[in-house]
Amino acid sequence: MSPSRSKALALLDLMVKGYLREIAPRYDPATGYDYCAPLRDLGIVPCEEAMKIIGELVEIGVLRREIHDRVASCSRCGSEVLLVRARCPYCGSLRFQSSVVMEHLLCGYVGLEAEFLAQSGRLLCPKCGRELRELGRDFIRVADVQRCEECGEVFSVPSLNYECLKCGYENKWTELRTKEVHRYVVVPGSITVQIPTMRLYEEIRSMLSRDYEVLGPHVVMRGSSGVDLEFDVVLRRPGEGSVAAVVEVADELDEERLMAIFSKAYDVGAGRVVVIHRGEVREPVARLASSLGVRLVRLEGVERTLEEVLRSLGEGA
Ligand SMILES: [Zn+2]
Ligand SMILES: [Zn+2]
Ligand SMILES: [Zn+2]
Repeated sequence: MSPSRSKALALLDLMVKGYLREIAPRYDPATGYDYCAPLRDLGIVPCEEAMKIIGELVEIGVLRREIHDRVASCSRCGSEVLLVRARCPYCGSLRFQSSVVMEHLLCGYVGLEAEFLAQSGRLLCPKCGRELRELGRDFIRVADVQRCEECGEVFSVPSLNYECLKCGYENKWTELRTKEVHRYVVVPGSITVQIPTMRLYEEIRSMLSRDYEVLGPHVVMRGSSGVDLEFDVVLRRPGEGSVAAVVEVADELDEERLMAIFSKAYDVGAGRVVVIHRGEVREPVARLASSLGVRLVRLEGVERTLEEVLRSLGEGA
């Protein structure tokens, strides 16, 4: 096991002890949603390795993905750290001013405030020349608008663009993509069953990686029948494509389950099949295993179990 992986596995201990019930991202205004900072606060590093483990825990059903937030993100790079910029919707210019549309009620003339503003500072109607005296009586404000100094167009709402602060691309609002942000919640009851198994996998991985290429937990391989098959752990001799052995963990082992394991192992040409089981197996199951050449190992503490697995792999190899 790499040192960084064994460090990041502290995650499992926190979950087993009940300190960690969910892993939620934290929003950093500079970088967006981030899992690394909250993990670091719990002493779980390195982040990349921890995220890999979280992915594996989702796959084996210990963690469940839930929606934490749904955010708009950059269409180019996916970042949700965006700066909203206002532009003229006609020419894209940044140079526009707030203005007011006014109506002179006595003659009906409608125009921008600037047209009514005389040099003297008084308000004079550009159509009839009379002075505007009292808001609401002889003139009214019709609407607040923006007037572009570049193209002269008048509009009520500027177009809002979203500049990505990560890659610099300025997204039109129609280009933004919505993105789900997840948190990871511990599935009640999953810990006692799955975590010891995961621990076992980790040990298997580190013990056997000297002699084998260790794949898993959870490997999908295509058998010679063309069917995709799922395995807990697959061992390959380095440099060779062939499967040296498969190691499966079965909660309850009966004839049917045993046959299923045997036939999928046979389908990928596994040289050896080891099944780790909890509790006793019935005599007929043990006999069937022996006639199929499947080695059974009872789960009894990680170390003892590993010893047995190693012995089973070595036998007659
Ligand atoms: Zn971007
Ligand atoms: Zn304009
Ligand atoms: Zn007038």
